[in-house]
Amino acid sequence: SNEPGPGDHGPARLTVLAGPTAVGKGTVAAEIRERFPDIWISVSATTRKPRPNEVHGVHYLFVSDAEFDRMIADGELLEWAVVHKAARYGTPKQPVLDKLAAGRPALLEIDLQGARQVRETMPEAQFVFLAPPTWDELVRRLVGRGTETQEERERRLETAVLELAAEKEFDVTIVNASVREAADQLVKLIRSPSISGKS
Ligand code: 5GP
Repeated sequence: SNEPGPGDHGPARLTVLAGPTAVGKGTVAAEIRERFPDIWISVSATTRKPRPNEVHGVHYLFVSDAEFDRMIADGELLEWAVVHKAARYGTPKQPVLDKLAAGRPALLEIDLQGARQVRETMPEAQFVFLAPPTWDELVRRLVGRGTETQEERERRLETAVLELAAEKEFDVTIVNASVREAADQLVKLIRSPSISGKS
């Protein structure tokens, strides 16, 4: 098999998962975390406040604005972005490089702006777009949260139109009709050997 084993030396493959707001990237990543512990999922730094049940160091590194500024200044982030005009999120670079060098497949679950930055700096990664089964379904998921005002929902829908158009920038699309199946498909890609010059 071409899958990296304990005796193999890296580098392993980096996979970047991105997609529109509310498509379920976080849910698919959580499914992988639970069912496929051999796959390392990057823990992002963020300036947003933790939600109940979120654990520092597991779901995110919750940092202050000053600490996030320092991480940027010291070149510690592989990419970072302001998401939903609300908070900053970024991928600590060194843990990703260490895991890949050790031969462990790594996954980043980030927004589209971040995925574009990683494509500039690590073009050898594979870029996977998570798509909703249908446009109506995405609208239902956005509106179904019930936490946003009408104006906020309209702004998010406009963003979603742009985000869906980004699919063509990606290597592969996975349709998130069932979380379990989407996770299975993604894991296959994460473990797959490199193709046509991609490593
Ligand atoms: P949430 O606040 O709901 O956990 O995440 C909001 C958004 O931030 C999601 O779309 C998620 O993909 C994105 N995100 C999480 N971590 C990162 C990161 O390290 N970099 C970037 N660019 N986006 C991230």
